[in-house]
This record gives sequence, C-alpha cells and structure tokens, in this order.
Amino acid sequence: MKIICVGRNYAEHAKELNNALPTEPVLFMKPDSALLRKGEPFFHPNFSENIHYETEIVFRIKKIGRHIDAKFAHKYFAEYTIGIDFTARDLQDKQKSKGLPWEISKAFDQSAVVGDFLPLTGVDIHNISFHLVKNGEVVQKGNSANMIFPIEKVIEYSSQFFTLKIGDLFFTGTPEGVGKISIGDRLEGFAGDVKVFDVVVK
Ligand code: ZN
Repeated sequence: MKIICVGRNYAEHAKELNNALPTEPVLFMKPDSALLRKGEPFFHPNFSENIHYETEIVFRIKKIGRHIDAKFAHKYFAEYTIGIDFTARDLQDKQKSKGLPWEISKAFDQSAVVGDFLPLTGVDIHNISFHLVKNGEVVQKGNSANMIFPIEKVIEYSSQFFTLKIGDLFFTGTPEGVGKISIGDRLEGFAGDVKVFDVVVK
C-alpha cells in the first residue's frame, strides 16, 4: 500500500508557512514503512530538532481505480480517521530552500500516525471536524469544510498519475496550528468527539 499526502490544502496553514495557495493539489508520498504501528510510541528521531505534528483527516481506499472522475470518487472510500503527518520541519526547510524533494523530512519511519477507522455512513465528508490534544490541551483544530481541494478532487487529480489500490491512504492536509513535539508529549487525536489515537513521544 501507499500513502498519498496533500500539502497546503488549507489556506490558513499555507499562510503560516509563507507558502502560496496552490492551484492544483500538491502531492507527496510516504512508504508503508512510515506507518506508526498501533500501540507503539513515536520515537523522536535524532536527525531533527524540530519535528512538527500536522493533524489530518485520512481516507482509506477500498477499490482499485485510475482516472477517477471527481463525481465517482465517493465510491472509492467508505471509512475515515484522523492521523498525524509528522514532519521534520528543519529538514523540510533546508530541502525546500535548495529546491530538493521533501522525502527525508516527511516519509521517515513512524511519520504516519493513523487512528482507528470510522464508517462514513451518515457523515457529511465536507463537514468533518477534528482536533489534536497535546498534554491535555487542544493545540490544533480543523474542519474538512476548509479544504482547498476536497477529497473527491484529490482522488481525481492523483488517480491520473497513480493507480489507487485497496488499502491506500490519503492524508488530506493540515489546518493551521502545527507545532513542535518534544520527548514526553502525549498526543491524542479526535474525529468530532471520538478519540481515534493516543500516542506518546519517547
Ligand atoms: Zn501534512
């Protein structure tokens, strides 16, 4: 399986990192080795001094497809959750300044936290609220209504380039409020009021 991620999909977050608003989805990928296994702590890597959490809605693909039209995209997923796209911001800034690819700052081991999946039955995918609690305090809040490119558009765009397979994950971008993590932090992710993950940083 592969993990397809969208960068700069919320206007306020693009602004906080001084990035221009995209006219097409900005995509990057993480390999399956980036998944943080359930129940495991996140071990802070020593190649970065500035790992950020980016809290995001995650959709799981249930059907193989390519060249999917946005209006049929809803047939390709039935579950969602909340995840974290851990980002080594210092490495990313360095790569960006040289015009180099981001992989080492985004696709490293354990960089993809994926919560427990929830069914989308009765859920309006354009109005999913979510938040992240760090050490007991809400640090990031978002709603899919504020995405620049909704999931259907992201699927349409991505599937022109990449065949989607069962089990592939889409990380749909982070709202504003990203921040640094430290050893000892506890990170809890919520879809609405439902807690979907609980991760400790070691
Ligand atoms: Zn992200």
